[in-house]
Amino acid sequence: MKILVANLGSTSFKYRLFDMTDEKLLARGGVERIGSDKSPCTVKAGSVSEEAVQSVPDHAVAVRLCLKQLADPKLNCLKSPAELAAIGFKAVHAKGMTGVQRVDERVLQAMEAYNDVAPAHNPPYVRAMRLLARELPEIPLVAAFETGFHETIAPAQRLYAVPVEWAEKHGIQRHGFHGASHRYIAERTAQLLKNPAARIISCHLGGSSSLCAIRDGRSVASSMGMSPQTGLPQNNRVGDFDPFALPDIMRATSKTLEQVLDDLANRSGLLGISGFNDLRDIEKAAAAGDAKAKLAIDVFVAAVRHNLGAYLVMLGGADAIVFTGGIGENSAPMRSAICADLDWLGVKLDVQANAAVKGEAPIHAADSKTQLWTMPTNEELIVARQAKALLMK
Ligand code: ADP
Repeated sequence: MKILVANLGSTSFKYRLFDMTDEKLLARGGVERIGSDKSPCTVKAGSVSEEAVQSVPDHAVAVRLCLKQLADPKLNCLKSPAELAAIGFKAVHAKGMTGVQRVDERVLQAMEAYNDVAPAHNPPYVRAMRLLARELPEIPLVAAFETGFHETIAPAQRLYAVPVEWAEKHGIQRHGFHGASHRYIAERTAQLLKNPAARIISCHLGGSSSLCAIRDGRSVASSMGMSPQTGLPQNNRVGDFDPFALPDIMRATSKTLEQVLDDLANRSGLLGISGFNDLRDIEKAAAAGDAKAKLAIDVFVAAVRHNLGAYLVMLGGADAIVFTGGIGENSAPMRSAICADLDWLGVKLDVQANAAVKGEAPIHAADSKTQLWTMPTNEELIVARQAKALLMK
């Protein structure tokens, strides 16, 4: 069974193609600059890679082009586009719906209903999925929702202290996100530790970031709440914020609610404090003495440690703390700041291993009670597994 897992941007379509009989990654590729006359369409399968540049007006044309490219006998991936069993999507959020779903009008409408809860994610996904459903009806589309892994979170962690019918009738509660990534980290770490009951704190730190507390392979808490704008500061999204600040900032700036929400979703987070979107630029600026860049790092570290402390208490300690995502895997200074002075808790980095690490590896000192790891996540594999399970039902 061959499954293509798609990652959609408003002008891009990236994918990985898996053979799910043995979970082998057959190829990866995609199309960039969709909507332009010269859209590069690339594919890499083993040591063979190809690139074609042509006019790609929309996502349906992009997918057809990728399938045609994958069916090239030189790549040895697909005998024909019809061999594809499904396209899986790492979908973010839908009203009253989670888990893994075959994409149909009901799913698309549930996602649309949360366009303003997940403004960076839902609108481009809904647009592209609707187009693919119409133009490529022969290919089943499967949405694996990021909230699915967090269905096991108990009410005490899930509920906001608001009128309870807001949760019961309207779904206003903490849903949690990055489910595919945290699920992968949960499974892989339990395998490495040879302990299915392991207490794990998964730190997915990247363009968007969240922490997840895991016990017995299940999510027991997520730092993200009702929307992906909550929890830790994100690259340009706010993180946790007091809604009672809204009327004051609206009056002070003469902005509408929509404009202020747009600021919170696009011009806040690390960008809002430092002026930079990317942690690499922030670290460079901080090293050159930029006080706001330094402050953005401090705010981010404080937020991660706040959640880390809460989860260590909740789990009664941790067997492993795992760093993943662009920041988690690549920024040694960030990991070092997050783990600073936690020896008393039994959390101790190996300074040299932390500075030198690449890929999946332990970075804890020999006398650390909690293991510390960096680990590339594999969200696409999780989505492919979930799509396969749904198709086989
Ligand atoms: P996304 O959450 O969008 O999938 P990633 O998980 O790939 O993104 O993380 C992207 C972020 O990772 C970048 O915005 C950048 O801040 C950070 N990053 C990537 N490489 C490094 C690095 N070497 N040092 C510090 N930060 C890095």
